[in-house]
Amino acid sequence: MERTLAILKPSCIERSLIGEIINRIEKRGIIIQGMKMIRMTEEMCRAHYSHLVEKPFFPELVKQMTCTPVIVICLAGVEVVRVFREMTGVTNGRNALPGTLRGDFCVSGQMNIVHASDSVENAQAEVARFFSPEELFDYVPENLNFLYGAGEI
Ligand code: UDP
Ligand code: MG
Repeated sequence: MERTLAILKPSCIERSLIGEIINRIEKRGIIIQGMKMIRMTEEMCRAHYSHLVEKPFFPELVKQMTCTPVIVICLAGVEVVRVFREMTGVTNGRNALPGTLRGDFCVSGQMNIVHASDSVENAQAEVARFFSPEELFDYVPENLNFLYGAGEI
């Protein structure tokens, strides 16, 4: 099973969408193995968004990611990196398909409510960046055999 990182961003917290997003994650059958509220710092933004540090909108991105606490969640499942990324939808909420988290709950390319890791490699690094080993649990639900068929896990 893979792990991936979700962040419920300030635009999710401020709009009281925490429950909606976690509800969708749970209903899909994605397993939660770690979750906490933290305040991101500029330094954390620089590491997490290292591919965007040179962009003109980066200072705004830092402001936007640090203006309230965020909720970081470690998700687990078979191919969960791709599954959760597709469930999140494309970056700009106005282009995101209905049925995706961004497509259903936002209309912005900046205030796009959720972060989802974009590759298995980045997911591993991001989970390790935000969680210490003691904060992660190898927990799987008792009904795992009803989430996945024989041979899928
Ligand atoms: N972002 C932005 N303006 C842009 C591109 C990105 O404000 O033109 C923000 C937006 O919040 C986005 C985040 O920077 O979610 C990270 O950008 P990335 O390209 O990694 O998109 P994502 O992986 O979140 O879809
Ligand atoms: Mg990204």
